[in-house]
Amino acid sequence: MTVTDALKHQLEESTGNDYNCCYQCGKCTAGCPAGAFMDNPPARIMRLVQAGYMEEALKSNALWYCVGCMTCTARCPQNMDIAATMDSLRALALEKNIISEDKAKKLVNAFHLSFLNNVRKHGRLEELSLVNSYKLRTRTFLQDASSGLKMIKQGKINPMHSLTGKGGVKGKDQIAKIFEASKKEFHQPVPKRRPVKKEFAAKTPLSIKPGMTIGYYPGCSLSGTAQEFDISVKKMCALLGLKLQEIDDWNCCGATSAHATNHKLALLLPARNQALADAQGLNCVLAPCAACQNRQVTTRQALKDSPELREEVRSITGIELTCKSEFIGVTQLLEAMDPMEIAKRVKKPLTGLSLACYYGCLLVRPMEAMAFDDPENPVKMEAIMSAIGATPVEWAFKIECCGAGLTLAQQPLVEELTHAIAKNAQANGAEAFVVACPLCQANLDMRQDSMIKRFGDVKPMPVYYISELVAIALGANPAEVAVGKHFVSALDLVSKF
Ligand code: SF4
Ligand code: SF4
Ligand code: SF4
Repeated sequence: MTVTDALKHQLEESTGNDYNCCYQCGKCTAGCPAGAFMDNPPARIMRLVQAGYMEEALKSNALWYCVGCMTCTARCPQNMDIAATMDSLRALALEKNIISEDKAKKLVNAFHLSFLNNVRKHGRLEELSLVNSYKLRTRTFLQDASSGLKMIKQGKINPMHSLTGKGGVKGKDQIAKIFEASKKEFHQPVPKRRPVKKEFAAKTPLSIKPGMTIGYYPGCSLSGTAQEFDISVKKMCALLGLKLQEIDDWNCCGATSAHATNHKLALLLPARNQALADAQGLNCVLAPCAACQNRQVTTRQALKDSPELREEVRSITGIELTCKSEFIGVTQLLEAMDPMEIAKRVKKPLTGLSLACYYGCLLVRPMEAMAFDDPENPVKMEAIMSAIGATPVEWAFKIECCGAGLTLAQQPLVEELTHAIAKNAQANGAEAFVVACPLCQANLDMRQDSMIKRFGDVKPMPVYYISELVAIALGANPAEVAVGKHFVSALDLVSKF
């Protein structure tokens, strides 16, 4: 077998793709939000692999502009996993040291290295240390300086935590073992993918009633820069009569950085959370961060499928996994309580508030794993907004990627993506966004000022968390759910309720 054949075989094994099935229709490129920045957009990457031009594919800057939104995979008529191809090629490029010279690679890789070193040290993401380490590696000292200061003033970032390491996990020995184990090869059986007609089938919603206790996985963002989400989720649950029990000693899920660079690490970090939740008897765990929920859901499936992976997690944590704990998002929780039940509890209907419900990528893709709402036209957030009296608008870009995973490393790309999203929302009559993910919120909110300065054709739009609006409608005071901590002024629009 030649080196090229061996690399192609490795890629086929890790993705399940038969690259001969790609007939170059170009749908993957058409939907790719970062395609315009890539030397070889997704369809061309697939062609390079198919024809055996592995080195050219590995050296492509596309691997470093890909934001991991999975739109390509969702839309391929031949059921090819293009997003997994990007991830596997990136990991292979790093492993074989066959790498693009593009500046994008340097910045994105610096971000992933800073992120993972931080998690290795603390078990959770310490956001200020991440930013400092990234700036040192890339010498981008002035980037986002004013936003950082604002977050320190608001108490969202605590500089003392980076000095003292406070806030990390207790089981640091287990985190060290996870990082050690992630260096060794892992062959998770990836089923062969064949062209099939994809049809969305939603899972049966859970039934959640007032008085129940639900597990809680806040993840790193909600413990820091996305405090508003944490505060408002807790308030909303209290008003709905739900008790939250935080997973004791949870760790970071690894997010985009693990997923983009080390497949095994991307499974082992969430697997420890699954083990802890199982052992603590939490059958249903609320994970408000869409990235965390996505990683936990995907890992739970991998654990169910692989006795080898379960055994490895048992040897690290000492816990026999049952995989009973199911991780759900805020929209799922509200659906499980029934929007009509919520409507009955509304004290202050948000009448006249026109909203663009923004789902982004991670709440709906991959559709087989999330299986919650229609991946091309989700509607469940709209049902909840209608139940609290607000007016959701019809618009086209509710599932377009905002590029959150690259918000530090690729700001110009992120501004283009968020501009297209905001412009379409406003053109369709929305005065604000509502989101269910801290990464989407941060990206649409914090990047709005520079985006408006650059393009000049959209007005400022507040970006609310779904839990903030539900809590306000159920009777909370807007200041009580920390709406005043947003970058784009968000208090005025809701203070009339
Ligand atoms: S969408 Fe699928 S079949 Fe079409 S070019 Fe992309 S990978 Fe090939
Ligand atoms: S995952 Fe998203 S950004 Fe990456 S290639 Fe696919 S469509 Fe493009
Ligand atoms: S998604 Fe949330 S928990 Fe996971 S890494 Fe990011 S901030 Fe941490």
